[in-house]
Amino acid sequence: NLKMNGSKAMLKEIIDRLNPLKFDDCVGEKVAIAPPSIFLDLAQKSVRKGINVAAQNSFNCTKGAYTGEISPEQLKDLGIDWVILGHSERREIFKESDESALAKNWRIENLEKTQDVVIRQLRAIVEKIEDWKNVVIAYEPVWAIGTGKVATPQQAQEVHFIIRDWLTKNVSEKVAQDTRIIYGGSVKGTNSSELAEQLDVDGFLVGGASLTEDFIKIIKCFMPSEN
Ligand code: PEP
Repeated sequence: NLKMNGSKAMLKEIIDRLNPLKFDDCVGEKVAIAPPSIFLDLAQKSVRKGINVAAQNSFNCTKGAYTGEISPEQLKDLGIDWVILGHSERREIFKESDESALAKNWRIENLEKTQDVVIRQLRAIVEKIEDWKNVVIAYEPVWAIGTGKVATPQQAQEVHFIIRDWLTKNVSEKVAQDTRIIYGGSVKGTNSSELAEQLDVDGFLVGGASLTEDFIKIIKCFMPSEN
């Protein structure tokens, strides 16, 4: 998640670092880069096959008088299959609701905090999800996003377990096992391995470090052949 950072030149640098990387079966085609929306088309045209481009947000309407918004259809028109929805920066700064973290027929990432909040946020979307195959859930403690403070591996595991357990009890065992639950909040090359070792941590949502060479190191944490 590049957030509101970068330029065409910086995006090119990041993609040039990513494109030559060969991912093993564990990582497969699960790496996505989310640049600011003005660079989505450029990113989509520049990444090699197998690396995904994600939008940082999308509005839940096909078209209309919504100045400044982007629809899922417009993103799909660019060939973009992924979007981050319900990021805590959207909730806090732009006052988006839990329900805004859902867009129909979309591959979504949905976010945030401790047990009550996590469960409240899951409840707000669970009934509306038609295909769990297209969902990735990101747990991101708000105090850890962009602050340099990272959850301990144990803290992350605990909440990821709560989410998976909730999915088992409220959706199905299969969905709970198959849905990727990823951690976000100040993930860096220096803390990613220990977090990646946790049983229920299936990946990361990386903000600041996605702008740096650390991003490659973080991806490699999920490639046993590299460790
Ligand atoms: C994020 O953008 O969701 C995020 C976790 O940012 P950072 O890695 O910078 O904390």
